[in-house]
Amino acid sequence: MASPPLPPLRDVIAAHGLNASKALGQNFLLDEQLLDRIAAIPGPLEGQRVFEVGPGPGGLTRALLRAGADVVAVERDARCIPALAELGHAFPGHLHVTEGDAMAVDARILAGDGAHIVANLPYNVGTALLVNWLSCSWRPWWASLTLMFQQEVAERIVAPVNSDHYGRLAVLAQWRSSARIAQKVHRSAFTPPPKVMSAVVHIVPEDEPQGVDFRVLERLTAAAFGQRRKMLRQSVKGISGALDAMADLGIDPQRRAETLSVAEFVAVARALSRR
Ligand code: SAM
Repeated sequence: MASPPLPPLRDVIAAHGLNASKALGQNFLLDEQLLDRIAAIPGPLEGQRVFEVGPGPGGLTRALLRAGADVVAVERDARCIPALAELGHAFPGHLHVTEGDAMAVDARILAGDGAHIVANLPYNVGTALLVNWLSCSWRPWWASLTLMFQQEVAERIVAPVNSDHYGRLAVLAQWRSSARIAQKVHRSAFTPPPKVMSAVVHIVPEDEPQGVDFRVLERLTAAAFGQRRKMLRQSVKGISGALDAMADLGIDPQRRAETLSVAEFVAVARALSRR
C-alpha cells in the first residue's frame, strides 16, 4: 500500500497534548526509520494481523500500517485515542483501536488467532503479559511476539545456560519457542529518555516437547531457581521424585540450577510428569 503523508510524530504529540505520563510508563519512539526497523522484525506483514499493545501517539502503529498490516490496538490513555483515530483515517479499515487495559482485555478475542503481537510497553506490564502469552495452551494462538523491554529483562529472556541472567524466565521463553534480541535501542531514542537501555525481543513458537506437564516444569524451575546458589540436591528435594529422575538421567545433584540446560529441565519435568 502506498503510504499516505502523515504529520511528524512531534506535531501529533503537540496537537493532542500528549505530554508523557510517568504513571503510564510513556517513553515515545519518534524516529521513523527505527520504527520501520522494529516493524520489520516479525517478517513481512502485508495482509497480516497485528495486535499492538500501547500504541500511544502511534509511531510504531504507523510503521506497522506502512508495512501493510491490519492493526488491532489497545491503549489505556484516553488522550491518545483521537490521535490514533486520525491515523486510522489515513489507513481506512486497517486500524481498530480499543481504549482499555491490556491486562484486562482478551487479546485472542480482540485480535483473533494467528495475529502477531507487537508492543512497546512499560516493562512491568510487558513482563506480566509475556508470561501470560508464554503460558497459554500450545501451539499458541499468536504467530510471534515482538516486545520492547529494558535491556536487562531482555537478557533474562534470551539468556543461555551458565550465564548470570539464566533463570525461570529463560526456561519459560525457550522450552517451546525460540527467543532472540532482535534490536537494541539506545535510551536516547525515546522521548523522554528512560534511565536504562532497551531491547526488542522476538519470540517464535516451536513444537512443544512431548509428554511434559507445563505445571510440573514450572514447579521444578521455581524450586531450582528459588535457591539458585544451592546445589540441586538441596533446592529440588521438596519435589517428590525429582532427585530420582535426575539420577536416572545422569544429572549430578551437586550441580546448580543455572548449569542445567533447558533440555535438561525439560527431561526432568518429562520424567516427573510420567509419575
Ligand atoms: N508505542 C508507543 C511508542 O512506541 O512510541 C508508546 C510506547 S509507551 C513506552 C507505552 C504505551 O503503553 C503508552 O502509550 C501507555 O499509555 C500505554 N500503556 C501503559 N500501560 C498500558 C496498559 N496496561 N494497557 C494498554 N496500554 C498501556
